[in-house]
Amino acid sequence: MSEISERLSFTIVNIGTLSMNKYWGETERKRAPSATCTLLDVDGIHVLVDPSPYPEQLQQRLFATTGLRLNNIDLVFVTHYHADHRFGLELFAGKPWLMSAAGIEEWRAAAPHEQSLINAFSPAEKHLPAGVSMLATPGHTRAHTSLQACTREGCLVVAGDAVMTRDFFAAAEGFHNSVDLVAARDSIHHIAQVATLIVPGHANYFVNNSSALSRPAS
Ligand SMILES: [Zn+2]
Repeated sequence: MSEISERLSFTIVNIGTLSMNKYWGETERKRAPSATCTLLDVDGIHVLVDPSPYPEQLQQRLFATTGLRLNNIDLVFVTHYHADHRFGLELFAGKPWLMSAAGIEEWRAAAPHEQSLINAFSPAEKHLPAGVSMLATPGHTRAHTSLQACTREGCLVVAGDAVMTRDFFAAAEGFHNSVDLVAARDSIHHIAQVATLIVPGHANYFVNNSSALSRPAS
């Protein structure tokens, strides 16, 4: 657990990896994708972001990293509709499943065969605990949404696939499957301006050192 203030802490439940990481010299798919899953504890409210691991592994990792059981999770937030960010969702049946309203609409248009699953989601706008807000970070998908939690000590941004890894952040570059690479770059710059700590979509968290961030060529 990493404490940011008395009322906010976070734990990386699962460190994701990319199926193919060009910064590791990979030019083809090398492994199944796994996204980073984060627990936010906000005044005792437990928000699980991107429940990526499959159910059995997620249940084990949740307990191993936080000591929490499934019924201790209050809310589940998903940054965008890609399946690798929600393989373990079914563990939390009966809890609110949240996504930005725009993200739900984007999913509806992209995956007509998943309507019943999509209908189980609620717009996150009314459900997030005080101190946690959404940050529109388009580019990876058009309605990709990160979470931001700020205290006097700084802001944690759980970026999802707006920031794939620290290398993609430093290069201000979206993943090759981004729907809009220019918007993806702009979202990285936006995150660089507001974040103290960044949880990327497919790697461990890191301290924002945006002086190292590549500026777009002009
Ligand atoms: Zn994605």
